[in-house]
Amino acid sequence: MSEIFDVIVIGAGPSGMIAAIAAGERNLKTLLLEKKSRPGIKLSITGKGRCNLTNSADIGEFVKCFRNGKFLYAAFNAFSNEDLISFFENLGVQCKLERGGRYFPESGKASDIAAALAKRAKIFSKIITGTQVKSVSKRKDGLFEVFAGGGSFVSKNVIAACGGLSYPSTGSTGDGYEIAENFGHTVKELSAALVPLVLDSPYLKELSGLKLKNVGVSVLNGKKTLAEEFGEAEFTVFGADGPVILTLSSLTGEEIKKSELFLSVNFKPALSPEQLNLRLLREIDKFGQYPVKDMLKELLPVRLIKPFLNYCGINIAKKCSQINKADREKISASLFDFRFKIKGVKDIKEAIVTRGGVSADEIEQKTMQSKLVKGLYFCGEMIDVDAPTGGFNLQAAFSTGYLAGKSVNGGE
Ligand SMILES: Cc1cc2nc3c(=O)[nH]c(=O)nc-3n(C[C@H](O)[C@H](O)[C@H](O)COP(=O)(O)OP(=O)(O)OC[C@H]3O[C@@H](n4cnc5c(N)ncnc54)[C@H](O)[C@@H]3O)c2cc1C
Repeated sequence: MSEIFDVIVIGAGPSGMIAAIAAGERNLKTLLLEKKSRPGIKLSITGKGRCNLTNSADIGEFVKCFRNGKFLYAAFNAFSNEDLISFFENLGVQCKLERGGRYFPESGKASDIAAALAKRAKIFSKIITGTQVKSVSKRKDGLFEVFAGGGSFVSKNVIAACGGLSYPSTGSTGDGYEIAENFGHTVKELSAALVPLVLDSPYLKELSGLKLKNVGVSVLNGKKTLAEEFGEAEFTVFGADGPVILTLSSLTGEEIKKSELFLSVNFKPALSPEQLNLRLLREIDKFGQYPVKDMLKELLPVRLIKPFLNYCGINIAKKCSQINKADREKISASLFDFRFKIKGVKDIKEAIVTRGGVSADEIEQKTMQSKLVKGLYFCGEMIDVDAPTGGFNLQAAFSTGYLAGKSVNGGE
């Protein structure tokens, strides 16, 4: 007779590894199956390789950030941001707080987080890598049979922690949705959240690679502002990327599909129109016989000046002394509102997180157990929850994974 595990965890991402640890620490016989050659590949590239593992926000704010946030309340209570930081610090990975309440490992290396987690998971569970779970079924005797790697494994419980659909080369190819659907679960429509924007603009070639700090960026539908963010953005060959852009795409993704929208960049969000006007008058006066492009160096990154003057319809060779009131007003208006037509968003494969997934209505909030199938649990990104950037998504993966591992019952 084959070995019977108390729990089989499918997927060694952050949610699966912590689930295996939480179950294994309770002396449950735990098997962790991972299809890639090593655990935590996506985790190792998070936060541009630095891993923004959580946020200093309180639980109330966490819940507000998420779509279906109330579903996560019990999970955040069971394993909070403070618990997560203590967990890693006890494993020897010190964490530091940065702007926006974002926590990173002090070393600045996401791989340190992934390695510490995998090391701990190895102590408390048997890990088999390079083994893709093809299907899961429940036998007449109530045990689960997990088909993987040309054979099968038997367990009393299964925790599905397969992640979403983005960055498929990391192993997240949506396998978990099929497993859930085969057990009768509803999978809510899958789409890209936190994904770069594709813009239609003659200036992209010149702007590509330009990083902007402290800018205000909004998405407009006609005169209506749909969402507004402040922070860092970056132009790319196809459009725009960076923290504020990802958050805006997440907030307005549905609308982007339906209407013609514009991205508006405010290069001087800290100034009022009066302050900017006075500043412009002063600079124009100071630069007198020099070209306006030289004066703009005081206000914009050099690479932006040529496309900016083009956008304003002002000849790049024009001298400051030749700038009239209409030119000045155009410069001022464009510094506050430089617009790009939004063509759409990049493919889900390039999204930071997947929106949609296993319906949260069909999962017990206090345990992460399926309401349809006893002994089947879900955690991490495969559940229909998602949040903006800031460490929220990883915290949700850790909290739901921990709760599933802590709740799973080995006795039945
Ligand atoms: C580039 C990038 C940067 C990011 N940065 C941040 C950040 O800084 N902060 C933040 O909060 N979030 C960030 N995220 C989001 C975060 O990485 C995810 O929300 C998180 O990894 C989800 O964890 P998970 O365990 O649910 O799934 P995953 O990390 O996707 O792990 C799922 C695992 O399951 C395995 N698997 C899948 N199917 C099978 C199968 N059939 N059999 C066996 N194994 C299987 C996969 O190989 C994978 O290892 C980032 C995402 C990306 C793509």
